[in-house]
Amino acid sequence: MKPLNHQDLEPIIEAVRLAAALCREVQDHFLVGNEKTDREPVTIADYGSQAIICRAIRQHFPADAIIAEERGDQFLSAVSTTQRETIEGLVSQVLGETVSEADMLSWLDHGRDKEAERTWVIDPIDGTIGFLAKRTYTIAIGVLEHGLAAAAVMGCPGYGDGKIFYAAQGKGYEIPLQGEGIKDVAVAAREGDAVKVVESYESSHADHGSMKQVYLAAGWPDVEPIRLDGQDKYAMVGCGDADLYLRISPKPEYRAKIWDHVAGTVMVTAGGGTVTDESGMPLDFSQGYQLPPSRVVVASNGRIHAQVLDALKRLGF
Ligand code: AMP
Ligand code: MG
Repeated sequence: MKPLNHQDLEPIIEAVRLAAALCREVQDHFLVGNEKTDREPVTIADYGSQAIICRAIRQHFPADAIIAEERGDQFLSAVSTTQRETIEGLVSQVLGETVSEADMLSWLDHGRDKEAERTWVIDPIDGTIGFLAKRTYTIAIGVLEHGLAAAAVMGCPGYGDGKIFYAAQGKGYEIPLQGEGIKDVAVAAREGDAVKVVESYESSHADHGSMKQVYLAAGWPDVEPIRLDGQDKYAMVGCGDADLYLRISPKPEYRAKIWDHVAGTVMVTAGGGTVTDESGMPLDFSQGYQLPPSRVVVASNGRIHAQVLDALKRLGF
């Protein structure tokens, strides 16, 4: 298997544009929250977005495996028949072809439970709560090569006028969600009082109080974190708009889902930054759909990483 390069990602970037158009249509005209069996929120756009992305992967990378958040069985149980008809109609419109329920189900589950050298890791709407609240969300696609985070495409409709970030072979890029013009991206060199910090919006996903203690212990008492949903936070660090994305789960021994972290990790490391757990180890994406138990993820511009790890250690994390 040859490692992917940034040109190989073009059909997936195209799929992300289509998925983003679909998400916008749902958000504007068909916005309803449903619940999965684990009580996590989901919408028809989550299923539509994943179907479009998996269809493109099946077409262009048929031998590859996929680990994706949504599943065909939940498409049948979590949303109503009418909602399924709605999303099948919208996906048909966006793709310009007639899409049946059988198509949706086969795309949603394509590549699942398969062993391959390359695995695509997909969160079709990362930050569904933000999507429902009309804040930000991310269409997140990461690529593992032999279990290591290697490439990514991230659709960020709420990032300025809308951006796509992508990376391969250690280099990060951005393009407008609508329009042309590729830019190289890299982390910023800020440190000390100038650091910009981002964190989760949702207090059920991140322990804001403990994170504040860490910023204090690191010597930044006046830092005012920006709170937002989805992996746009990782993109902000990767392109230099922020310097630190700290995530401390409110749950001890939390096991994070890899689709919340692979794409983002690639964007940060491609930009020259660092992503680790509290002990300074890279995140281990080789163990299936979950990370090993840990409350903490630190993504930074690299320069300030040791300082944050030291603060975490002194606070007993
Ligand atoms: P964010 O938009 O950064 O708040 O992250 C959204 C992700 O948080 C979702 O995709 C969930 O997988 C994840 N999540 C759900 N519950 C928790 C939790 N208790 N701790 C950490 N992350 C969580
Ligand atoms: Mg998610």
